[in-house]
Amino acid sequence: MTKEIHLKDKTFVPYISEDKILSRIKELGQELRLDYGTENILFLSVLNGSFMFTSDLMKEVTGEVELSFIKLSSYVGTSTTGEVHELIGLNQDIEGKKIVILEDIVDTGLTVDRVRTMLKMQNPSSVEVCTLLYKPDAFKGDSAPKYFGFEIPNKFVVGYGLDYDQLGRNLKEIYQLKE
Ligand code: 5GP
Ligand code: MG
Repeated sequence: MTKEIHLKDKTFVPYISEDKILSRIKELGQELRLDYGTENILFLSVLNGSFMFTSDLMKEVTGEVELSFIKLSSYVGTSTTGEVHELIGLNQDIEGKKIVILEDIVDTGLTVDRVRTMLKMQNPSSVEVCTLLYKPDAFKGDSAPKYFGFEIPNKFVVGYGLDYDQLGRNLKEIYQLKE
C-alpha cells in the first residue's frame, strides 16, 4: 500500500487496502443475493460518495437488479452540519419494490434516516441500507444499517469515492486523517 498523502491542509494515512475493500464487497454482494433470493432488488445509490462502491458492488450481485442514483447533500469539510437537503433524481415508481439504499458511509445516520423516510412515503415493499463504512460511535439514527462493509472508529476518512472538500474521491484505497 502507498504511504501517506496530502489533500489541501490535511495529511491522511492508508487505512483499508483495495484488496480488503474488494473482497468484503464480494461477500456483501453474495449476502444480499442470499437474503433476497430470486427477487428483483432496486438499488438506490446516494451520490456522490457511493459511486465507486456502487460500481464494484453491482458486479458482485447476481440475478435481477435495478439501479438508480439519488442525491442529497449535508456535509461540509470534516464535520456533519446536521442539515439534510431534498432528495433529487428519483424519477421512477418504487411502489412494491424491494429497495436497498447504497451509501459510502453512515456516520450520524441522519442522511440515511431522511432518505428512508422520504422513500417510505411512496410505499415500497421494503427499504434496507447497505453502506461500505459504518461509524457506530457516531450513530444517532433509528436503526443501524442492516448491511455494512466495515465498522470504523469515529475518525474522518477519504478515498474510494469519499472526499475531503471534493478531493480524494479517485483514490483506490481508504485513508484516515492523520492526527
Ligand atoms: P451522516 O452523518 O448523515 O450519517 O453522514 C452524512 C454524510 O457525511 C455521508 O454520506 C458522507 O458523505 C459524509 N461523511 C460522514 N463521515 C465522513 C467521513 O469520515 N469522511 C467523508 N469523506 N465523508 C463523511
Ligand atoms: Mg454519502
